[in-house]
This record gives sequence, structure tokens and C-alpha cells, in this order.
Amino acid sequence: MHEQNGLTTMNSNPVTPRFTASGIPTTYYNLFADACLPQEPALDPDTHAPVAPEKMAALFPAGLLEQEMGSDAHVPIAEDILEAYAMFRPTPLRRAVAFERALGTRCQIYYKYEGASPVGSHKLNTALAQAYYNAREGVRRLATETGAGQWGTALAYSCQRFGLSCSVYMVNVSYHQKPFRRTMMELYGASVYASPSQQTAFGCTFARQNPAHHGSLGIAISEAIEDAVTHPGTKYALGSVLNHVLLHQSVIGQEAIRQMDDLGAFPDVVIGCHGGGSNFAGIAFPFLRHKLDGRSLRIIAAEPASCPTLTRGTYRFDHGDTAKMTPLMKMYTLGADFVPDPIHAGGLRYHGAAPQVSALLAQGLVEAQAFPQTATFDAGRLFAAAEGIVPAPESSHAIAAAIQAARAADAEGRTQRILFNLSGHGLLDLASYGDYLAGRLTAAGGPDRQAVNPAMRAETSGL
Ligand SMILES: *Cc1c(COP(=O)(O)O)cnc(C)c1O
Repeated sequence: MHEQNGLTTMNSNPVTPRFTASGIPTTYYNLFADACLPQEPALDPDTHAPVAPEKMAALFPAGLLEQEMGSDAHVPIAEDILEAYAMFRPTPLRRAVAFERALGTRCQIYYKYEGASPVGSHKLNTALAQAYYNAREGVRRLATETGAGQWGTALAYSCQRFGLSCSVYMVNVSYHQKPFRRTMMELYGASVYASPSQQTAFGCTFARQNPAHHGSLGIAISEAIEDAVTHPGTKYALGSVLNHVLLHQSVIGQEAIRQMDDLGAFPDVVIGCHGGGSNFAGIAFPFLRHKLDGRSLRIIAAEPASCPTLTRGTYRFDHGDTAKMTPLMKMYTLGADFVPDPIHAGGLRYHGAAPQVSALLAQGLVEAQAFPQTATFDAGRLFAAAEGIVPAPESSHAIAAAIQAARAADAEGRTQRILFNLSGHGLLDLASYGDYLAGRLTAAGGPDRQAVNPAMRAETSGL
């Protein structure tokens, strides 16, 4: 019955996406354009007026800025990018039967496996597109930040593929926790600096005060931006948060809708972990179209309790970086100065959230839940033992949310279809799993703060 409705909705939808013969979408999907959802413009940090496109042009190539502001619901994917996607897309979508059995749930649990990309995460979807547009416009080098290292790895590979040099500012705590990530980036030809670094004036102010500074994504972003604006032929690349990044990630959800359809199923719950919002938006936004069309569907963003941007942040204009160089964006934020605990899900240690995800959360179209670190590792271990795939610690937040959704449905005697995005594998995170197995992990972030609802969020704003 459910399937019937799902298929009917999809077939009658005039915006049904197109795919290559092998099942890769040929267009990116812009939910905000398609559904005419309003979005607050980014503000100039100096004037607080909407930021002028020329100012952004110092950081990003025109092709990406066009996508950032774009009003087309369906944006064609360039041939060269499609050719690169064909290395690993479509990524697998599987039903986690062994995991269901291990949980003893009556629910059906499905996962979309972005860890199947050569670099091990969904980040390659946007990295390839960003490198392509920069190369096309004559840029010679990209500067970027990386948290856990997945974004730097993805961009390093993509730069190599499209003939660009790449400089990566890697958050210090991850630089030491994840030395193999650095090796991978260097294998792909990138230069990698622990952030705060001595490479930039901004980094020096921190590195001098405290050489062992944990660093943060906010600081690393400031360093990469400073690098880009002070060197000719260099631009900046961001791995999450911005509209064009979310746009590129829409390949995930578009594929997933088709793959679920092939299995004769449509989910009741769609889940993604949330750092800056890109993999969550990637899986969720194409499904959200169906929710806006009247379909009953829960969409959940899962974040760390120690960096609870969506569940504990305030919805306001804030900077994307610590030096306050980026435009002000309307988003859920813990404050640009927030330095989260050094948890192992480095990719989720960001003070802000994508403006598009934030707008949908504020409207109650998506939900957010926060999980303590130990609960996510419990979930990751259970999934690895059942399905054989070691999830990235970031992705384990989505698994924890899937378990919670399944338990809740079981308790109510309902059988639900739960789909989560397995945003990356954890094969380069085995040191953190080792710490977990040895009992060396803390909950990081204190008490379990699950299932915070929007009303509670309003009361608990600020940190
Ligand atoms: C970077 C990363 C995340 C968090 O970033 P989002 O933009 O929120 O997706 C999650 N999972 C993995 C595997 C990552 O590499």
C-alpha cells in the first residue's frame, strides 16, 4: 500500500530526475528552487547588507557562485564530472538484514553507502565538482580546511584529477589522531598543514600562544581563506554548509529514491548525520520534495551531544569561521568562537549548520537529535559486527538515530522502513575504535540529550 502511494507520487511528479544508463543522476537537484522555499541572503560582515557577488568571486569561481545563488530546480552535471562519478556511482543501497536481526527489530533498515567512494566518503561528490569548476576558470591552486580529513582527502584527489595544486589546513587534533589521512592527501599530491599553522598570520596568533592548540574547523577555515585571498591563482573550497555543496550532494538522495523504488519500498524515516549539513541534505532534500507533496515522512539529522548545533544552538546570523572573515549566514549556531571537545567524529565538530538545513529545521520540516559519543560507537560496533562495514564515527551518529527510531517503532508496535545515509567508512578511524574497545572513550558532551524537540530548543538556546 505504502509502495503504491510512493510509486504513484514519483511517477506523477513532473520533476522526476533523469539518470544515465548506469543509474547516475544527470542533474543536481535544488529543493529550494523547486519548492520555492525562501532563503535569507548571506550578509557582508562589514556592511551587513546582502553580500555582493564580486566579493565572493575572490574565493569561488563563477560557475560555483552561479550554483550558490541558483534558481533552477535541476542543474545539469558536466560530462567530465559525470565521468568521474562513474568511478563509484551509483553507490550501493542495501537493506541491513543482519543488522535488523542483531537489533531484533521488526522494522526494515536500509542504508545508502557513500563509503564506497574511492576516498571513503560522500565528500567526493562535491570535491570533484568544485575542482572541475575551478580548473575550468583557470585557477591553479585550491586552499581548504579539513576536520577529520575526509574533505581534504576528497579535494586532494579531485585537484589532482583536474590538474590543480591543493593546500589543506587540517585541524590539529585530527592531524595527530588520523595520520593516515594526511598520508592519503600527500599521496594525492596535496600539501598538508596542522591548523593552527605557521603558514598564515591568523594561524600564527594561535600557534604562538599554544602550540598544542586542538584547533577547530572555524580556525582552519580562516587560515584557508587567508591563504586564498593572499595568493594569486588560488581560490578557496568549502566541503559543506554552502548551497552549492548541498546541491552537489543531491546525487545521493536522487539515487536513493530510485534504488528504494527498485526494492519496492519508500522510507518512513530518512536519517543523516549532521556536521555542516551536506550528507544529510544530500540524502534528505530529494525525499523532502515528497514530504512537501503530502507524504508522511520523518527526516532526522543526527549530531554529537558535544557539538549540538541543531539541538542547542540559536537560529541567527553568524560567521562561518573564527576570524569572522566569511559572510554572515542565517543558521543554527553555537557561536563562531565555539571550540568543541576533541571527539573522534571530527567531521561533526562545526559550530554552525547549512543555512538551508537550518531554515527547514526552523520550519519543523526536519528534526534533529543529539547523541553522546559512546552511544554512537556502540551503534557503530553493532553495525560493523552485523554488516561487516566499519562505519565512520560521523556516520555512526546516523546509525544511533536509526536504532532509536527502530526501538521507538517496535515499542509502539509499528513496522517502519528506516533509511540512513552511511556517509563514509571508518577504516582510517580504527585508532578511535581501538580507544573505544579499550574503554578509553568518554561520552564527551555529558548527559544524553536525545530527541530535543523544537519547543525545547527555543528554551535552551545558547551554550
Ligand atoms: C565530513 C563528513 C561528515 C559531516 O559533514 P556533513 O557536511 O554534515 O555531511 C559526515 N560523515 C562523513 C563520513 C564525513 O566525511
